Amino acid sequence: MKKILAYIFISVLMVNMVVPLSQPVVAQSINELKQELEELEKERQNINSNASDAEEKIKENEARQRQVKAKIAELDEDLAVTADQLETKQNEIRVTENEITTIQNNITTTENDITETEAEIVQLNEEIEDLMERIDERQELISSRLRSMQRTGGNASYLELVFSAQSFSDFISRLTAVSKILDSDKNIMETQKQDKLDLESKRVEVEKKKADLETKRAELTAAKEELETKKATLVAQRQDLTELQERLNIQRANQSDLMVQLEEEHAELEEYKVTLADQQEIKRKEAAAIKQAIKNAEAEKNEEQLSQDSGNSANAGSGSSGTVLFWPASTRRVTSPFNPYRVHPVTGVVRPHRGMDIAAPGTQQIYAAADGVVVDTYTEYDGRMNGYGDAILLTHYIDLNGDGTKEQVSTLYAHLRSGTTRVSPGQSVSKGQQIALMGNTGVGTGQHLHFEVHFGGWAHANAVNPANYLY
Ligand SMILES: [Zn+2]
Repeated sequence: MKKILAYIFISVLMVNMVVPLSQPVVAQSINELKQELEELEKERQNINSNASDAEEKIKENEARQRQVKAKIAELDEDLAVTADQLETKQNEIRVTENEITTIQNNITTTENDITETEAEIVQLNEEIEDLMERIDERQELISSRLRSMQRTGGNASYLELVFSAQSFSDFISRLTAVSKILDSDKNIMETQKQDKLDLESKRVEVEKKKADLETKRAELTAAKEELETKKATLVAQRQDLTELQERLNIQRANQSDLMVQLEEEHAELEEYKVTLADQQEIKRKEAAAIKQAIKNAEAEKNEEQLSQDSGNSANAGSGSSGTVLFWPASTRRVTSPFNPYRVHPVTGVVRPHRGMDIAAPGTQQIYAAADGVVVDTYTEYDGRMNGYGDAILLTHYIDLNGDGTKEQVSTLYAHLRSGTTRVSPGQSVSKGQQIALMGNTGVGTGQHLHFEVHFGGWAHANAVNPANYLY
């Protein structure tokens, strides 16, 4: 009861602080009042500095985003230049490869020509050899005929044949025959010699042709080697460009990741950028809401008492810590837990997550986590609690710790689907009551519920891990 009185007292005080102090305060000394005023002023300054701190961080974040965007643009330009260079290099390689193919064809043709010429030479050599053999044989025949004539001078010789004529006419005819034989031998010999000379000159010619072809082949081979060296250089250059491209792509991916992280950070900073005016308004409305919540709780307690008195032992209610709050959504998928000390992995900025994110696609119900009273509802465009989008703030008078004393607890439901809020300020709600649908209003990435639990009134410093109290 003492606690309840204290709350009512504080609530009245809060209302008085906002509304200028016009009524006399009876039960307080001047000193106490001064102290309260000082504390309130301190809190106001705190809120102010928190707000300007968030503003500053948002500005820093935006400056970094601009830097990263510029870097990405620069990298994109480098990538475009590299892609052009790669294409040029690829074309050069293709041209060189065509040249190599052409030259290879020429080499093949020349080699075929050489083979043919070699066969021709072999053929000519054979013919020359045959001819020489025949010349040699005939020479042998003639020589032996002459030798036989000189040696015998007898019946075997032409002379004997001639001089053994029986008459002059016989002599003439024999002489003609012999001279015809000798002439014929001589002609054949001459022809064969001429043939041999012809063949030899032809062979010389063919051998020269072969030598020329071999020179040509050597030249082509050298040219081909040169082209292959050129191609190897081009391929190495292309490899360098490909590696450059890969490095640029990695850099770009890193910058893109950084950009995403900066955007997330920005979203979260916006989420916590609540102006002084917002906070003052919240405090005023909370004072009224908690009074209502206490009243409700007392009435319920009396009812419980009555039903217990009549022997109807009802469920004692909230029970111990860890099972106090109703799971606030129709999905249990937690995508980002409460973490007041979260440090950005890249920027190093501490960006606390003062709530729990629960997310699922489709239509998802949002439920009141406990009996309570609606402090206020917000919409994305009403200029208050801007980063939270459509949101509902509830205040409760419950035993969150399970230590037997009831105290003020606040719950916040953010990024609700536009136009689905079913409750209004000052309205009492009961645990598990459907209050809205999950959405993605405000700053954030995709549909999710951002759910906060605070001991006392709604303030950043009061945030506690919802996971510790949900069932
Ligand atoms: Zn969140």
